[in-house]
Amino acid sequence: MIYDILVIGGGIAGCVSAYFLKKEGFLVALVEKDEICSKASLAAGAFLSPKIALPSPYRDYVNEALKFSLDFYEKNFPSSFKKCPLFKMPYDESDEDRLKRYEKYLNIEYQKDNKGYIFKDAGLVDPKEICEKLTENIDILKFEVKEIERTKNFFKIGKIFAKKIVVATGSEKIFDIPYIKTKEILGYRYDAEFDGMDKLDKNFHKKASISAFFRGKSVIGATHIRKKSCLDLLKAAKTDKFSLLKKANEIIDLQNLKILKIYTGSRLCTFDYFPILGEIVDFKETLKKYPSIVKGAKIPPSSFAIYDNIYIHTALASRGFVLAPYNAKMLSDFLKYGKSIDFNLSTHKRFIKFVRKN
Ligand SMILES: Cc1cc2nc3c(=O)[nH]c(=O)nc-3n(C[C@H](O)[C@H](O)[C@H](O)COP(=O)(O)OP(=O)(O)OC[C@H]3O[C@@H](n4cnc5c(N)ncnc54)[C@H](O)[C@@H]3O)c2cc1C
Repeated sequence: MIYDILVIGGGIAGCVSAYFLKKEGFLVALVEKDEICSKASLAAGAFLSPKIALPSPYRDYVNEALKFSLDFYEKNFPSSFKKCPLFKMPYDESDEDRLKRYEKYLNIEYQKDNKGYIFKDAGLVDPKEICEKLTENIDILKFEVKEIERTKNFFKIGKIFAKKIVVATGSEKIFDIPYIKTKEILGYRYDAEFDGMDKLDKNFHKKASISAFFRGKSVIGATHIRKKSCLDLLKAAKTDKFSLLKKANEIIDLQNLKILKIYTGSRLCTFDYFPILGEIVDFKETLKKYPSIVKGAKIPPSSFAIYDNIYIHTALASRGFVLAPYNAKMLSDFLKYGKSIDFNLSTHKRFIKFVRKN
């Protein structure tokens, strides 16, 4: 069998990409070396929250993606999704001033409360169930992709043949894109029980986040730890080395707290936080084709050399469940109808920046 598209990676990026591509009529398979939703995606809260910030392309992109994703989950997976407001509380006086300054620029609906701001368009999902439902009708193959071999017309991956490949392997890169720098932010979060949690009908966000009551529990998340090779993340989570519970207690007095489950994971981020989506510019070939680009020559990005038929969907940072459905729709529209991908997400933008700087 020759698949039209093989998606590598069964986190939210891979699962929702496979879902939209299949919906467009492509014959799709997904390869995952572990279980579906077993890495960063399992660690996610998975809160769906707006970006509260001054106007910027990134803020507008996140809030557009949030609108899309809330609607997407509600229509297609209502039982794995809870729409509920976000109650954003300032950390301290300077944070309060910062939020006040943002008020007139906010492009999302909000109400002021004496302790903070309520954003009605927010929510959370059950990450594992969402990923499983997204891939219900997709062929799932379980092995680790170690090599991608190109034959004359196809790719050969293990015993599988495919015309196109989408790489969605999260923090575990299967090849390096030399002009894109990324970082890993580690973290942990808890499923918890405490007195009164069944009355919580909002997500709360201060220095930590506490979710509304959903699926018999509340989620307490999450830490943001710069990657240090010596860190035993599970041990850090078990001892709460980064004081997540202390921060959560500043939101709600967590009486009779019981930690039901601990999750750990690593988020892949770019330095401007935009994810990476779509075609991959071939660094060497493009420089060979257009050496003057280094000196600032304006070459239309559409004429850059790319790796034929390989696409990427990664670096979702701390907002994978907000951004991935929106990105996946963009990717499937690109592959099916040739619609363009947001330039901010493209490898083209990052290639230009890199060659001009170096
Ligand atoms: C503690 C924590 C809390 C978070 N909270 C939230 C939140 O509240 N809301 C939110 O929206 N986001 C949150 N995030 C971010 C979110 O989890 C990520 O953005 C998202 O899950 C990334 O998805 P992914 O598919 O890119 O990566 P992953 O989920 O890591 O999936 C990649 C998959 O690829 C597979 N793979 C890798 N290499 C290979 C290979 N060679 N062959 C086959 N398979 C391979 C891996 O096994 C893995 O399953 C949180 C993250 C963390 C760590």
